[in-house]
Amino acid sequence: MVKAEGVHKSFGAAHILKGIDLEVAPREVFCLIGPSGSGKSTFLRCINHLEKINAGRLSVDGELVGYRQRGDKLYELKDAEVARKRRDIGMVFQRFNLFPHMTALENVMEAPVQVRGEAKAVARARAERLLDRVGLADKAGNYPSQLSGGQQQRVAIARALAMEPKLMLFDEPTSALDPELVGDVLDVMRGLAEDGMTMIVVTHEMGFAREVGDALVFMDDGVVVESGHPRDVLTDPQHERTKSFLSKVL
Ligand code: ATP
Ligand code: MG
Repeated sequence: MVKAEGVHKSFGAAHILKGIDLEVAPREVFCLIGPSGSGKSTFLRCINHLEKINAGRLSVDGELVGYRQRGDKLYELKDAEVARKRRDIGMVFQRFNLFPHMTALENVMEAPVQVRGEAKAVARARAERLLDRVGLADKAGNYPSQLSGGQQQRVAIARALAMEPKLMLFDEPTSALDPELVGDVLDVMRGLAEDGMTMIVVTHEMGFAREVGDALVFMDDGVVVESGHPRDVLTDPQHERTKSFLSKVL
């Protein structure tokens, strides 16, 4: 579903991603861990072309991200085409970024109606279904300020799902939450995984990675240091850098 080959990304003189190779299979829960500043968020942003890579190849569902290939040549896609492709990729951030002046239901309905031109009744029915799925059917009329952080994050997940993405990217979705609110969000993600959603999850929740993850990559300083099944990487890390990182977070 996602394939990265020799992906490099720099910001000015700062070389952040230094040749990332990895592959995420359909229906896989792919966890990404690593120290602060190692490039995890930057890599996620490259996947949906919020950042342009400087070298290498990055594809989603067999199509290059941001480019079309003809023969040996790459042509950059127009903004509208990039936006259309981006709709297939849901993204959930550490900060929930809900529209504050809209209810939970309106937040979930917004993109299908505004971006895809869907009929309101259709969007509303789906939004109600999705809010039910994330355990918030009774909060549909609440504004974000009337929801806990964990509830807001579940609305954010429902909002991303409303566009029926084929891939979901999660960037530390629980790290801004009070500990007692983390479990509900992880449960929603676990449910998504069980339904077969392809997910890339940047997380510090090693329990989630171990129980739900199909693959785990440890990234440090812009390179993939170690990857494998979460059980193996977490219990028997092969590299010093992985051992040292895990000893701090486990
Ligand atoms: P964290 O765990 O703290 O979220 P991370 O692994 O997600 O860290 P990134 O956010 O990808 O790390 O950042 C990697 C490096 O790239 C950092 O040194 C950061 O300062 C730099 N960086 C990220 N975005 C930009 C940008 N738009 N311009 C310049 N530098 C950037
Ligand atoms: Mg980050």
